[in-house]
Amino acid sequence: KLLLEVKDLSAVIADSKQPILKGVNLTVHEGEVHTVMGKNGSGKSTFAKVLVGHPDYEITGGSITYKGQDLVQMEPEERATAGLFMSFQSPVAIPGVSNIDFLNMAYNARRRKLGLPELGPIEFYGYVAPKLELVNMKIDLLNRNVNEGFSGGERKRNEILQLAVLGADLAILDEIDSGLDVDALRDVAKAVNRILTPKNSILMITHYLRLLEFIKPTYIHIMENGRIVKTGDISLAETLEREGYKAIA
Ligand code: ADP
Ligand code: MG
Ligand code: MG
Repeated sequence: KLLLEVKDLSAVIADSKQPILKGVNLTVHEGEVHTVMGKNGSGKSTFAKVLVGHPDYEITGGSITYKGQDLVQMEPEERATAGLFMSFQSPVAIPGVSNIDFLNMAYNARRRKLGLPELGPIEFYGYVAPKLELVNMKIDLLNRNVNEGFSGGERKRNEILQLAVLGADLAILDEIDSGLDVDALRDVAKAVNRILTPKNSILMITHYLRLLEFIKPTYIHIMENGRIVKTGDISLAETLEREGYKAIA
């Protein structure tokens, strides 16, 4: 079943009107894992952020259809309620807000939209605690301020914890492997696999083949200068790892 259809999408930076996306085409069905690779600055993160409605970017052409709806017309919160989740390449710290309160608020906001009763702090603790094990995260990180003083690996685990708490039909994961040691990478990838069922879809951005050993991609896409210029299977990533981008140009 069709989940996301992006057609000839172009987008500019809202401030400067500088074009970044220049005609992206991508079709995602339920249960598929799509990997976007590409040189630094090719527009991968911009594409991900445009999908979740990030205010830094303005769509100037094309269309995005998600679950049969025009995604562009939906507010970022509506997109989240509709099961779109994004983990950021550089998660931000939120001073003065504890991690567990933040997660509880986000989860309750989702439940309100779905017409479900909110969970109080004690109930929510019961819901979130078992998920810590999934991402191999220390419990004291729940009471620290969101991402404040978290190591790179802890921030990434925390992003995946958010995914575990909120769930997703389409999880957009922007370089969840960046800055992780081998063990942390395995933890994070395993957690993603356990959170998502075969019906969920993943759009993940990565530079490295090693993540794809844990999260098996259905398709690999190469982004270049704001477009997807090539689509293939895992062998595309293998060629890339061996020979670099010049080999697939
Ligand atoms: P990638 O994730 O593929 O490395 P990005 O999407 O982050 O690439 O960036 C694509 C290009 O757009 C880069 O040249 C980057 O500097 C520029 N860019 C993206 N977002 C902004 C922004 N908010 N302000 C200014 N330049 C931006
Ligand atoms: Mg980059
Ligand atoms: Mg990026």
